[in-house]
Amino acid sequence: MRVWIRRGALLVWPIALILYLFARPILAGLFPPMFGLQRIAPSVWTDTTDPQIHQRLVTMVAASHARVDRLFGEVSSAARVLICTSDACSARLGAQGPRGIAYGTFVIKLAPRGVDAIIVTHELTHIARRRTVLGPLRYPTLWREEGIAEWVAKGPAPSTCTVTKELPQGYSDRHMWRNDLDLYAQSHCAISTLIRAQGADQVLLN
Ligand SMILES: [Zn+2]
Repeated sequence: MRVWIRRGALLVWPIALILYLFARPILAGLFPPMFGLQRIAPSVWTDTTDPQIHQRLVTMVAASHARVDRLFGEVSSAARVLICTSDACSARLGAQGPRGIAYGTFVIKLAPRGVDAIIVTHELTHIARRRTVLGPLRYPTLWREEGIAEWVAKGPAPSTCTVTKELPQGYSDRHMWRNDLDLYAQSHCAISTLIRAQGADQVLLN
């Protein structure tokens, strides 16, 4: 038994190193204080010590939880929301994701430019979809997930919108999204059109 415990302990450091190198926000989600984050609500952590900003952040995340959970059930609060209000904090947690990024079903990281109700709701929708509809292993159609996250965060796109580009299907097409925010707008338009035709439940919960 002791040998197994010792072997288990030996595995902890390589796993921690891999997480640090390739998925630092996940490591930060597991151990937020190690990254200079303090807890301001049961699932919300941030770098700032300003109590007035804390209040604003807690209110913002609570409103996003309410919006997402109304559509998907009580699931989104299971994720840890890590909010960086400074570039130094963002760098500590890893630079991926210009504004916000969701990791699996577990953690959301917001950069200073992503401290915004729309971004939080968008990322929480990814978490909720993965927790309720997709499961941990299924990689869905990329434009569909981004379009749904935009729809939940912003409401429907205008009925006059049109899709003019080929939308990315697979996760491997994600590089197309880096510098082209218009693709989010196009996916938002496509999902809004689908929801107008099929109803929100049919699209959001499948
Ligand atoms: Zn997204």
